[in-house]
Amino acid sequence: RRPGDYYPARAVIDLGAIRSNVESLADHAGSAQVMAVVKADAYGHGLLPSARAALAGGATWLGTAQVSEALALRAAGIGPEQARILTWLYAPGAPLRALVEADVDVSVASPWAIEEAAAAARAAGRPARVHLKVDTGLGRNGILPDQLPAALDAALRAEAEGVLRVVGVWSHFAFADEPDHPTVRRQAEVFDEAVRTSEAAGARFEVRHLANSAATLTNPRVHYDLVRPGLAVYGLSPVPQLGSPDRYGLTPAMTLEAELATVKHVPEGQGVSYAHAYTTPGSTILGVVPLGYADGIPRHASGALPERPGGPVLVGGPIDEAGGIDGTGRVLHVAGRVCMDQFVLDLGPYAAEQAGDVVTLFGPGAGLARGGAPTAEDWAQAAGTISYEITTRLGARVPRVYV
Ligand code: PLP
Repeated sequence: RRPGDYYPARAVIDLGAIRSNVESLADHAGSAQVMAVVKADAYGHGLLPSARAALAGGATWLGTAQVSEALALRAAGIGPEQARILTWLYAPGAPLRALVEADVDVSVASPWAIEEAAAAARAAGRPARVHLKVDTGLGRNGILPDQLPAALDAALRAEAEGVLRVVGVWSHFAFADEPDHPTVRRQAEVFDEAVRTSEAAGARFEVRHLANSAATLTNPRVHYDLVRPGLAVYGLSPVPQLGSPDRYGLTPAMTLEAELATVKHVPEGQGVSYAHAYTTPGSTILGVVPLGYADGIPRHASGALPERPGGPVLVGGPIDEAGGIDGTGRVLHVAGRVCMDQFVLDLGPYAAEQAGDVVTLFGPGAGLARGGAPTAEDWAQAAGTISYEITTRLGARVPRVYV
């Protein structure tokens, strides 16, 4: 390793876990194909290694929000014979021609997008494959059902001209993590109706797709031809209130660890970190963890111990095989404010830790609620957010190490 690559923390990414998570998802999906959603740098896990692991696990499609990520997958050598790619979020003037030339499928969610896709195909001299995005109730991107006939008409005219191929129709759930919410059924009905009217108007879809991770794992009724899991690919439970990842055959792929930068004795009454949100209740030993909000550690996971514990950290031992805490380990919580680059732990007066010892913020543990090692979900709870945000916001400067 070059000196410039040195970093006293890392996200260890278990590519075997990503592969086996996709295998589990493919089992759940039955006859439907799997699109691994690898947007946002694969939810922070790293676009290319994660995409390759997902393909090895049986995904046949990759999904990205950003055009740049779809093009990066192709530029890295993931060819059309290895994966269909769909990309879905762009504004007028996006380089759709490059997508057509790179054999990337394009979502069209507005009349202007249909026009721009057709223009890109004409310029490229080959048809653009498009997926009509229908807003079945999310109230975000997508064509509302009452505007679908006009949009479809434009798309089918371009198809007749040979510039578009309307290969897909798709939508996205509003209550992504509440599979039993009544809107889920309602959106599926609106989707069915959109498919029916589109086919009656002459559309011949190759793939209809609606299911995110939660629906892939819990709702076969909405699997259609293709499912689009994201979070579950990385082994996190999209429905933490219903069960931890192992219940669905998933293993968290990311372990975030750091080396203690400082270990030092302090007296009772020592204010710790900015604004002294924590004061030591007795003489003790503090440990400085070199990760902060510039690395994506949420400042909302600061702790004002003992009243409000901050984000959890496993100290003194590895996560054991069963996701529990090795006999020597213990869970501590952020003491005081999370700073830009670091935060502090109160290791206790008898701590044996030394500077350089490795601590683990989260990984494939069983979770605090089950007496296990801390997880990304535990950090989400400490910060009042969702696990998606914990891994996705992990700073670009934190090295990803692939195992
Ligand atoms: N499909 C679309 C359009 C999305 O935006 C996302 C992610 O937000 C997904 C699928 C994957 O969702 P999840 O990570 O909940 O599986």
